[in-house]
Amino acid sequence: MAGIYIHIPFCKSKCAYCNFFSVVSEKQRVDFLDALQKEAVARKDYLGGEEAKTVYFGGGTPTVLDAFEIRKVLEVLRNNYKISAAAEITLEANPDTVSKESLMAYKSLGINRLSIGIQSFFDDDLQYLSRKHDSKHAMQVLKWANEVGFQEVTLDLIYGIPTLTDEKWRKNLEIFFSTGFNHLSAYALTVEEKTALGQRINKGMAAPVSEDATIHQYEILCEMTKNQGFEHYEISNFARPGHYSKHNTIYWKGEKYLGLGPSAHSFDGVSRQWNVASVKDYCDNYSFEREELTLYDRYNEYVMTSLRTCWGCDMEFIKIHFGEEYVKRFKNLTKKHILSDKMCQKDEKFVLNDYGMLFADGIAAELFM
Ligand code: SF4
Repeated sequence: MAGIYIHIPFCKSKCAYCNFFSVVSEKQRVDFLDALQKEAVARKDYLGGEEAKTVYFGGGTPTVLDAFEIRKVLEVLRNNYKISAAAEITLEANPDTVSKESLMAYKSLGINRLSIGIQSFFDDDLQYLSRKHDSKHAMQVLKWANEVGFQEVTLDLIYGIPTLTDEKWRKNLEIFFSTGFNHLSAYALTVEEKTALGQRINKGMAAPVSEDATIHQYEILCEMTKNQGFEHYEISNFARPGHYSKHNTIYWKGEKYLGLGPSAHSFDGVSRQWNVASVKDYCDNYSFEREELTLYDRYNEYVMTSLRTCWGCDMEFIKIHFGEEYVKRFKNLTKKHILSDKMCQKDEKFVLNDYGMLFADGIAAELFM
């Protein structure tokens, strides 16, 4: 399986916690679209003729672009790549940039999955994060998404926000369940020092994040989604059976993907490549960096990503790709995590449970070569 990611770098404003590459100025919008189409043509052999089963418009805020602009990008992709007729085509959308009409127009292009950045249904949380929309509009957008009839809709929610009580978090999840949507991405708020929020917290102008409160809200999340029949298939992702994100599964299973646009990453099975993170440089003189992955890199990446998923680390896979010695070492180092009830072994697969996922990064780091 292979996928294509397109990074749309524009946002209407910068959220205080944001650590993604995005810009507020749209003055290079036309040049960007031009450069994006050129890059798509220039790299048409990257997937080696493999059929793309997914296309994902992420950002930034892809819905800053109108349907006419998105159509141009899709046309270039369809003319230069083998895109499966049944491809999952996802568009990330922020509530402040969509209307019912724009959603209908995107759907008419073949976009069949919408990922809406809601974050919270409470205005004080949205203000803490400096999101541009309010809860009333967020509810309206969910209603439109249902009326327009997207095949798949997923919401992004954030927990661990200092203004978010457990009661409000439960309410956010209840509102999500009431929509009938089948997929949820729920992220713990992480604060990077160089973001506006990081600086505000450092200066004592914003409340800091509490680790205990975040862990408790993660537990609420795991319990409530389970009670509603959702499967916790990746550390931050929950879906009803049959509704997993096909695109993100490509990343988590180490399959090939092509990333187009500034800062986008690509992976061809043996090397990683990442585009320059500047709209100006991307438009003026497209450049990228590339890293050939060593055996250790590939092993470490496999351990890190697979431990975050419900598929876990597969000893058969490790034996075939890295050798018996790696299997022995893995089993030795994970004994204590099985004894402490963080991990279980199902046949030759080692999987973290909900509790263990809280320690996923630390456990992976212990296992790294
Ligand atoms: S909308 Fe998303 S990408 Fe844009 S600034 Fe906010 S968090 Fe960052």
